[in-house]
Amino acid sequence: MTRTLEDGLRWVSEGTALLRRALDGLATDDALGAPSALPGWTRKHLLAHIAANADALGNLITWAKTGVETPMYSSTGQRNADIEAGAGRPAEELLTWFDRSTGELDAGFASLSEAEWGYPVVTAQGRTVPVSETPWMRTRELMVHAVDLDGGVTFADLPEGFLTELSDEIRAKRAASGQEVPEVDGSHADVTAWLAGREHGPLTVADGSPAPDLGPWL
Ligand code: ZN
Repeated sequence: MTRTLEDGLRWVSEGTALLRRALDGLATDDALGAPSALPGWTRKHLLAHIAANADALGNLITWAKTGVETPMYSSTGQRNADIEAGAGRPAEELLTWFDRSTGELDAGFASLSEAEWGYPVVTAQGRTVPVSETPWMRTRELMVHAVDLDGGVTFADLPEGFLTELSDEIRAKRAASGQEVPEVDGSHADVTAWLAGREHGPLTVADGSPAPDLGPWL
């Protein structure tokens, strides 16, 4: 891992802009009601999840600033219910929620002092991390889901440095869970998409056969 807090904050801005541009072309109920690239989810499900994620990360910032334990989500059931409910909301409401939650998260990041950035918080996965990890957590959501929106953004549109960090992290995570992940030949963007369990261009392993399907990751 070589990323800095500044990298994370820059990628949040870039990822937000990338996703917002993709949403500009999908800002109707018909377009947002169509399937995303994620199984079983429309673009509305995905957008509700991305907006709720900004609010949830905002809770971690509140935790760091006040010292009062404020989890990302009250429960997994509530998190899923909010996504389902969001999928039934009008496009305009969801876009307003995205813009509001994004703006509030940016303001939250800007409000943290150097000491507060080091404050330990607990993620929805139960990991204890300094709150300075949240820009990276947000970056992953923004960048990967910008592709999942299926509105024209691909892994080739994502920043090189981000692809490197993401590839390294997924390789480490898959290895830690005992999964064998071979080295493959292909573009950086395709290899990262493959590692993330997403659609990708042609990739081969050392003996020339196609890269195996790794299954879902995020
Ligand atoms: Zn997500």
